Amino acid sequence: MNRVFYRDLIEHDHVYTDSGDDEIGLMMRSSFKSGLCPVCIRETFIYRHIPEDQTPPPEPYQHYSIIQPVMLVCGNCGWWQSKAICVTKSHPFLPKFEGQDSEWAYSYHPVIELVDITSNKVAIADIRQHLLRNWEDRKLISAGKAESLVESLLKEHLNCDVFSSTANVNKADGGIDLFVAHENGQIKAAVQVKRRITKNVEPVTEVRNFVGALAIENIQKGIFVTTAERYSSVAKDIPEKLNSRLELDLISGKELFEILQCFTKPDDLVIPPYVKLDMVWKDIRGNSYNLEEILNV
Ligand SMILES: [Zn+2]
Repeated sequence: MNRVFYRDLIEHDHVYTDSGDDEIGLMMRSSFKSGLCPVCIRETFIYRHIPEDQTPPPEPYQHYSIIQPVMLVCGNCGWWQSKAICVTKSHPFLPKFEGQDSEWAYSYHPVIELVDITSNKVAIADIRQHLLRNWEDRKLISAGKAESLVESLLKEHLNCDVFSSTANVNKADGGIDLFVAHENGQIKAAVQVKRRITKNVEPVTEVRNFVGALAIENIQKGIFVTTAERYSSVAKDIPEKLNSRLELDLISGKELFEILQCFTKPDDLVIPPYVKLDMVWKDIRGNSYNLEEILNV
């Protein structure tokens, strides 16, 4: 499952495009004319932001311009480019300046990368950014990556070292995915991670098995993490039933998302300088969208 990541913003100066020195700039211009994406030669969609009528600046102004950004977005690969029109407004009592509208000197496009979020090679930082906006996609990531995701989140949430049980010399027999360690390296808790694809409710079975693994390994504290939305009521009763024999924390998918939100700062969207996050965009039929909708992020 490939997802588009926008990595960087590339600026094209019209001077070099006009002179023919900027081949990508020329390609972008022809793409605006043809309506085809230069990356995959598929249909693009055009969106315009028309600013609301602005109060003219105080006198003695004669002319002022307002910026009308345009976005051309590929419906297939997600590539986009942008330019802006500077529309000149004249003082109401002065003769209208004809032909004064011009294009913004720079046009923009992003560097795009298609990332397979189901792959076992995807970076955890990318998974965190993606899940921040698309939490339902947690079902698509691999079991190994779900474990690494929980490892990275618990490190910050507990402010402790967390490491994979396979990295431990005294490898656990099974049923334990991660260890939480004190500063001196002493094991503080063991962690089990369940990535659920179809279940929305984590049943009691695996929680019971985990309690068994803790007892066998003689570990006093366990943290069970599921990506399922919530626990069954029977599973939820387990920590209390253990009394003081074992300490067990259950983290549901809902709580895991809260931890993700708490410790993941959203990457700034890669956008041209004249584009603002709260702008409303219209397609050719006059339907309105916000920026995240048209960029599908
Ligand atoms: Zn494309």
